[in-house]
Amino acid sequence: MAQGCVYLVGAGPGDPDLLTVKALRLIQGAEVVVFDRLVSDEILDLIPTGTTRIYAGKALNRHAMPQDEINALLLNLARAGRRVVRLKGGDPFTFGRGSEEAEHLARHHVRFEVVPGITAAAGCSAYAGIPLTHRGLATGVRYVTGHLRDNNELDHDWARLVDGDTTLVCYMGLVTLPEIVRGLLDAGLDPATPAAVVQNGTTPRQRHVLATVATLADQVAEAGLKSPATIIIGKVVALADTLNWFAPGEVHIEEVRRLG
Ligand code: SAH
Repeated sequence: MAQGCVYLVGAGPGDPDLLTVKALRLIQGAEVVVFDRLVSDEILDLIPTGTTRIYAGKALNRHAMPQDEINALLLNLARAGRRVVRLKGGDPFTFGRGSEEAEHLARHHVRFEVVPGITAAAGCSAYAGIPLTHRGLATGVRYVTGHLRDNNELDHDWARLVDGDTTLVCYMGLVTLPEIVRGLLDAGLDPATPAAVVQNGTTPRQRHVLATVATLADQVAEAGLKSPATIIIGKVVALADTLNWFAPGEVHIEEVRRLG
């Protein structure tokens, strides 16, 4: 791996076996690893002793390190000729702000490479037995954020998100789950649409709730699910009954009717 280069590396959703070969090689060869809150302990254990670790994690509404400081840190490390791995949960280019960091490096003519990782949608869906597309149930999939804008509003055109043939995956939506559900139902989504929330997907701490859009928010509150959690809404969720091969933790399953 090159000196003075920043590798923006996806660590996947948690299970260390889901790292790419390239990610593992880069982690093992780095001089400095700058990592996020969502990178699992099992993956951090793969960083060699002697490698400098810098935590740049962010908790919701509590910015441990502001984005411009992270950008400046990566720039300075690269300019100092270090081999830098910027390790991010999931995929760096999916709700990961990896593109902002890459833009900053590009603007300052610092070399970087992007190593894709398994994004939460792929990891959680696979480990909860929910295919994102399935013949006859979903012809497409859509990823959206449930994170509030600065004005504290969810800025979605709900009518455009209501589509019985498209699976909807919502990142960062646990806190706003009641608003998301209300927005979709008000815009005409069938309340019987199967829906799931997967917490700590792909790890031994995975827990998930299967319900319908009408009951999801209450069931998730009752089960006490915590972040990180990913919401999956669509007819494909009904397949979890039969495809649920990985169930390490407590699972709440409501009988869902297969639509379509
Ligand atoms: N770049 C990441 C997403 C970062 S945004 C990726 O590609 O996956 C953070 C959100 O990702 C969380 O709020 C949650 O919605 C989701 N997430 C990340 N890891 C997760 C996990 N192990 N289980 C469930 N959701 C997860």
